Amino acid sequence: MGKNNKDKALQNEAEIIAYLNRVMDSTFARFIMKKLSRPKSISRSLAIYAGVEEAKTVKEKVHAKVVATAIEKGAAPLGVEPQALKDFLKDPYIRKGFSVIIRGIAEYGITKPQRLSAPFLVVWNFTSECNLRCKHCYASATPHPAPDELTLEEKMEVVDQLDEAGVAAISFSGGEPLMNKHLLPVAEYASSKGFYLAVATNGTLITPKMAERMKDAGIGYVEVSIDGPTAEIHDAFRGVKGAFDRAITGLKNAKDAGLTVGLATTATHHNIGVMAEMVELARKLQVDRFIVFSFVPTGRGREIVEEDLGPEEREDLMNFLYREWQKGDMQIVTTSPCYARISVSNALKNAGAKISPTHFADLELPAEYLEGAKALTEFIGGCGAGRIYCSIEENGDIQPCVFMPIKLGNVIKDGFQRVWDNNEVLQILRDRDSSDYACSFCSYRYICGGCRARAYAYYGDVKAPDLGCIMYKDEWDKIIRRERGVRI
Ligand code: SF4
Ligand code: SF4
Repeated sequence: MGKNNKDKALQNEAEIIAYLNRVMDSTFARFIMKKLSRPKSISRSLAIYAGVEEAKTVKEKVHAKVVATAIEKGAAPLGVEPQALKDFLKDPYIRKGFSVIIRGIAEYGITKPQRLSAPFLVVWNFTSECNLRCKHCYASATPHPAPDELTLEEKMEVVDQLDEAGVAAISFSGGEPLMNKHLLPVAEYASSKGFYLAVATNGTLITPKMAERMKDAGIGYVEVSIDGPTAEIHDAFRGVKGAFDRAITGLKNAKDAGLTVGLATTATHHNIGVMAEMVELARKLQVDRFIVFSFVPTGRGREIVEEDLGPEEREDLMNFLYREWQKGDMQIVTTSPCYARISVSNALKNAGAKISPTHFADLELPAEYLEGAKALTEFIGGCGAGRIYCSIEENGDIQPCVFMPIKLGNVIKDGFQRVWDNNEVLQILRDRDSSDYACSFCSYRYICGGCRARAYAYYGDVKAPDLGCIMYKDEWDKIIRRERGVRI
């Protein structure tokens, strides 16, 4: 998410976890939370407590009262005043996130990483249609929509099911989501249900008018992909001349409309040498967030596997991003889970350094929170695939991650919640202690866990090593350099 009020409200995450632990410590509270079996019921009780909704039945009143007593009791030792708690819970996005955590703890207890009753975030590949031809496209996007793309009615049903499950945020991706005429009506509907909404786009279609329409539809964050600091580098990778200028114009239009904006880059051999210029470009454009995607050789990316970075290159890149983030003028995040390891180990070495407890969201914690940060990093747990995040394809198929083409089920045919609760691959992804999990030897397994999509792309096994990690340097040398002749 971008730097906005929601992030500010979530600043003190370490305290929130300590706090939720206390809330769930009471057997009675746990019993009630279990009785409120749907996150939506918990969310409603929180809304009644925050004073934004009214209880309609005596039962609702009683539940809200019990929830209020439990959460105030949990907050008291932390010095959190009831009014501050109520203000915090006025935001529907915060209530959804809280409900999913509370329900997860009620159901599974405190686990490392935390198991949740629904993902916080769903990335929805809204359409496979795209106007560019990017070499690294994980979706193998095409100039036409897929024949089995969901109808408008089915898309609305997806929103209903995600709302029912308690999902807090949806990120529309693709293909190019702005090419799809259903995007704005679906976003508007999702916004009315309290979701935080983001769009990941190539930026070329964001005219000033489109930017205003996106904002009016309730979209809060727009992330534009740019793969090089110059038109020459970007256009070569994107396969269309002029794509760079149009992406920059689109990003500026989104910013001018008051949307939170991010600049996303996929790190490969094509642009690793100009990453410092990319950061400078992001600063010059005054984006709220700069995000570096880890290349996963899947989809069209399989054809350019030699573009993948070796473990040492990746380690250098993560350290570079960490140093740039310390400058403090911009959020810098990545999809490489090892970034949390770099952050925590740097903070241990250098007194006063900032800690980011996760690789994918900027949740800066002051160094004195090192202990709390450790609990938080283990709670969030690095790779979020199938735990705090999953993806949905344009035909409603559910995957653990956009980069992991494993069909878990279909929202329309099988039901989102049923798949989330029961799918076997998801159970495997949630277990960091199983003996046949490649990272089970590593002390960072709860805060990193390795990118499971990269493991799947290289080995066809979600429990295999993430060859991007420095711990697997020998394995990378053996498999990649010797057998495939990849530059490292
Ligand atoms: S071995 Fe696995 S858990 Fe440990 S740092 Fe590497 S990828 Fe992360
Ligand atoms: S598999 Fe995990 S770390 Fe890799 S891209 Fe997906 S969520 Fe991120």
